[in-house]
Amino acid sequence: MSAVAGIDAATAAPARLIAADEPPPYSIKNANGTSPFLLTCDHAGRRLPRALGNLGLDGRELERHIAWDIGAAEVTSHLAARLDAFAIAQTYSRLVVDCNRPLASPTLIATRSERTDIPGNANLTDAQRRQRVDEVFRPYHARIEAELDARRAAGRRTILVTVHSFTPAYLDVSRPWQAGILYHHDTRLAHALLHLIRAEGEWVVGDNEPYSVSDTSDYAIPVYGTQRGLANVELEIRQDLIADADGQAAWGERVAAWLLRAGADAGLI
Ligand SMILES: [Zn+2]
Repeated sequence: MSAVAGIDAATAAPARLIAADEPPPYSIKNANGTSPFLLTCDHAGRRLPRALGNLGLDGRELERHIAWDIGAAEVTSHLAARLDAFAIAQTYSRLVVDCNRPLASPTLIATRSERTDIPGNANLTDAQRRQRVDEVFRPYHARIEAELDARRAAGRRTILVTVHSFTPAYLDVSRPWQAGILYHHDTRLAHALLHLIRAEGEWVVGDNEPYSVSDTSDYAIPVYGTQRGLANVELEIRQDLIADADGQAAWGERVAAWLLRAGADAGLI
């Protein structure tokens, strides 16, 4: 009996993934912000619930992009302040569960990222997967949905801006862009941004680069942008540009100015 109990203890999910003394799965800035822009930062955090240990990775791996979007949380904070916009950021690492993936995505809980295997994500039971979704993914998205519902009920305009960062190189191929403007069906804000950023002549900006948006690989744009009919854009900023406080502040200012101008150019604000 004791051996069986030992196996059960090792493989069963704990009753709670996030302990009572650990932070909630999201944080809010500017809850009463008046801007039509609403900011989300799905990959803001790199925290792991204690119950998951270090997922079998060493500390260096957990500081890399595979765990989070370096600099994105701080840029989002600057944007929230500068625009007086509501902002929500995920607390926990994308390696716990990726909040910008549909639940059916094979990379919702990644077992490999770039060249790194994630041992703590291999061979999860259905209960373990469900627990990550229920305690991290669902409360985060429920809070976004509640905010969007409340704004719609109040007749407030909402423009979704979801903020990410990308690595200067991926699998040894360097990326030429400083920033990327990503979009799917609704091109209003994205095209206005591309037009004005290119007109400045200073930036190599990606048009649906370094990633493209799809219903099977993304959550925020399809679910909150397309399904709710909200103007939207996904911003990607290269991590080396926003790795320190000066860069984060500069890009926060720059992107805020771009959003205000592009929003006006597109007739959205
Ligand atoms: Zn991201």
